[in-house]
Amino acid sequence: MNMDENKRRRSMLLYILIAVVVYLAVSQTMYPALTNSQTQEVSYTDFLQMVDSDKVTQVQKTQGDSTIYFTTGTGDSQQKYSTVIFGSGDGLADKLYEHNVTMVSQIADNSSDVWFYLLLSYGLPIVIFMLVGWWLNRRMKKAMGDDGPSMNFGGGGFGMGMGGGLGKSNVKEVKGEETGVTFRDVAGQDEAKESLEEIVSFLKKPEKYNEIGARCPRGALLVGPPGTGKTLLAKAVAGEAGVPFFQIAGSEFVEMFVGRGAAKVRDLFKQAKEKAPCIVFIDEIDAVGKKRDGSLNSNDEREQTLNQLLSEMDGFDNQKGIVVLAATNRPESLDQALLRPGRFDRRIPVELPDLAGREAILQIHANDVKMESGVDLGVIARSTPGASGADLANIINEAALRAVRFGRKRVTQDDLNESVDVVIAGEKKKSTVLSEHEKEVVSYHETGHAIVAAMQKGSAPVSKITIVPRTSGALGFTMQVEEDEHFLTTREEAKNKIAVLCGGRAAEELIFGQMTTGASNDIEKATGIARAMVTQYGMSDKFGMVALGQQRNRYLGGGSELTCSEGTAQEIDAEVQALVEEGHQAALKTLQANRFKLHEIAHYLQKKETITGEEFMNILTRDDGFAPAMPAASQE
Ligand code: ADP
Ligand code: MG
Ligand code: ZN
Repeated sequence: MNMDENKRRRSMLLYILIAVVVYLAVSQTMYPALTNSQTQEVSYTDFLQMVDSDKVTQVQKTQGDSTIYFTTGTGDSQQKYSTVIFGSGDGLADKLYEHNVTMVSQIADNSSDVWFYLLLSYGLPIVIFMLVGWWLNRRMKKAMGDDGPSMNFGGGGFGMGMGGGLGKSNVKEVKGEETGVTFRDVAGQDEAKESLEEIVSFLKKPEKYNEIGARCPRGALLVGPPGTGKTLLAKAVAGEAGVPFFQIAGSEFVEMFVGRGAAKVRDLFKQAKEKAPCIVFIDEIDAVGKKRDGSLNSNDEREQTLNQLLSEMDGFDNQKGIVVLAATNRPESLDQALLRPGRFDRRIPVELPDLAGREAILQIHANDVKMESGVDLGVIARSTPGASGADLANIINEAALRAVRFGRKRVTQDDLNESVDVVIAGEKKKSTVLSEHEKEVVSYHETGHAIVAAMQKGSAPVSKITIVPRTSGALGFTMQVEEDEHFLTTREEAKNKIAVLCGGRAAEELIFGQMTTGASNDIEKATGIARAMVTQYGMSDKFGMVALGQQRNRYLGGGSELTCSEGTAQEIDAEVQALVEEGHQAALKTLQANRFKLHEIAHYLQKKETITGEEFMNILTRDDGFAPAMPAASQE
């Protein structure tokens, strides 16, 4: 629940309170006028006299009660009275009969007061409650619109109570121009933009396509890892084409009430047909489009929704131009039926940006903040391989926040470098105070990584070593920055990486003759590389080019699943172990050969806490009698 939610709650309460107060005030001022002041109380004597003088027209006696109500006159001159009978009231009936008084069980009232009274006592509350209900219903629906499925139950409940509102989708319609995003706001992703360009031109001029008989794709599926700009691209298409944009998240279809999801899909497409040409954008479509596998825990509601979606996508004739865009980062989990031609027949990969893409993305976001002149975004792009567009946007923002924290007017290179560290390794953790001995161990550990890396041919140069603890739990890290990007990794490079990862532990063993927990992350990574070499990349001598695993959730960084017999699995483990051990031995050998440099740099690092790649290389290559030695074994 956020601030908005609280505000909404508060104003809801306020509204109910006002309604109650108004109701009470109105009824308090109106009731007496109707009940008391209009009925005048008179003495029994007066009553008898009025009967005798033939003024009384009707009398009503309530059962078992000594009060009687009576009226004089008729029509508009009718007056109401009440009185209390003295004695048993015997003979009263005869007397009244003689004087032609109508004796009734309920006084006939020919003024409109009764209706007014009834309206006030029953009608008003009903109207008020209906208004409150309608209002709540609307509020809830709005809440559902931006809070996702968490609020849906409440919304449904009120929807039920008041009738209507059921199954209406909370689709956000945004005018194309109003998304405020165009292709210029999306850096890199040129291939994706190219594929979408055609959709844009179709939406702008559907007639051109109809004339020649070309059918434009009805749907395009944007697939890629989180944060690569899928949502951004979809908005940009709307912005470029200038058509209405209906956005809904897949999760909004899946609701507590069976059948609502399907109704929402119907409603969504009904709206879209009215506004065509337009774009329907279903974000995170995997929430509804998962494979229908008929397994026990399959979700009826989701399947209904999916079926409805499929039939809607077949149903609309695309003369008018409706394009359905969808985004997902789990394409492998999507139902095959969604992917067949005529539905999401076009699949647009939105991959992690390459070096040039990263720099372009940084540039776009840097335009929004004030930068010191001469800031080099290229360095930042080089030191962030594997970062998504969202990460990069975050780096720029973190840098700007840091500049503010330090009271600067402009973002400096320092801010940017530091924010890369923050995004990679977490904030500096001030509360962790290492003892001098621990600091020494961490220094040797990190220097170990750095020296092993520096001694390899073709490894990325070390750009920074630090032993400042981070909130991620890392006690320090060594950063390597590639000069330029490459997309293939050779077996040698993979082995080298394992050796670098083993360098930390190797240094600790060599110098202190002990092991610490500090290497756990390195071990995990090294093992991961070794396992992938064996099971995915066919790089082991033993198995050769046989796929032994299948990758899960390619875009979500899921590992791989073994697809081999148990016996083979054991052999794989042995093979992986051998690969990691090989790297470990290589690292030990390198450090052994350079142990004086290891001491020197580690002590320098312990004193300075953070050193640059330059400082590191200066000490390493300085000829002080201990020139760096490259052991033969580390290079095969
Ligand atoms: P996705 O939908 O793929 O998870 P988004 O489209 O929501 O990712 O991207 C999140 C944010 O990251 C965007 O709002 C934008 O600020 C930034 N971003 C991602 N990719 C790019 C890009 N290619 N160019 C510019 N900004 C990007
Ligand atoms: Mg998204
Ligand atoms: Zn380490």
